[in-house]
Amino acid sequence: MDDSTVIVTGSSKGIGKALTERFAAEGANVVVNSRDGARAEAVAEEIVADGGTAVGIEADVSDRAEVQALVDGAVEEFGSLDVMVNNAGNTVIAPALEMDPDDWRHVIEVNLTGVFFGMQAAGQQLVEQGTGGQIVNISSMIGQQGFAQRAPYCASKAGVDNLTRVFATELAEHDVHVNALAPGFIRTDITEQTQDAAGYTDEDVHRRAPLGRFGTMEEVANCVRFLAGGDHYITGEVLRADGGWMANAWGPDE
Ligand code: NAD
Repeated sequence: MDDSTVIVTGSSKGIGKALTERFAAEGANVVVNSRDGARAEAVAEEIVADGGTAVGIEADVSDRAEVQALVDGAVEEFGSLDVMVNNAGNTVIAPALEMDPDDWRHVIEVNLTGVFFGMQAAGQQLVEQGTGGQIVNISSMIGQQGFAQRAPYCASKAGVDNLTRVFATELAEHDVHVNALAPGFIRTDITEQTQDAAGYTDEDVHRRAPLGRFGTMEEVANCVRFLAGGDHYITGEVLRADGGWMANAWGPDE
């Protein structure tokens, strides 16, 4: 990834932060993004202290003008863009029948509209450069399967999967590959902290996933790195990284 410029949205913590660290370790110029500029800059400073190249840029992915400023800021700082990772996401846990309309709209605006804006702004930049490039959207296994109490999340991720295919077909003539990664249950600080409210235990995941465990952020980073590297004949693909969960029709054995 030497000297490639990579933007990762929502990267002040969790999977996004792990992605920025991985890209920086491989020599990329990394743009850390958060709605809180100070948090983005703090992560960028950590990367620089570890010998990497990074800047932090504040932007809310649900605001088209801010996403444009994020892409423009990356180009201003590093000269061009090579990889856009649309990672920012959120969720609300509530029964569909009781879902507050504002909660519904907020999750859709960040997870679906935010990814659309990210692909649009990055896609325009990559087409204008004429260099080709890579867009990787972080979707979810539960964009492909219903999960109780996550109506807007499931709907948004299903939308991300099909938007990925639309952009892949439109941008292929510019050698811009557009793919998505759909993780299953990944161990992060947030999943650990919210697991009780989310209504499942470690053992539930260990029993249900054929690999018998959560995935790690490093394993997600390996997959995103592969897709972002671009040395493949893959576009319009949604790659699942779910420990075999969706391959396993039977489910838990008790
Ligand atoms: P996380 O909550 O730690 O990270 C999400 C990041 O997005 C946070 O830094 C948050 O501040 C940021 N964000 C939220 N709204 C934003 C906005 N409007 N603009 C900019 N940034 C915003 O969660 P995570 O587990 O690291 O999730 C990262 C991505 O991976 C999400 O898209 C999530 O849906 C997806 N995912 C996670 C798992 C998992 O098990 N952790 C599984 C499948 C998919």
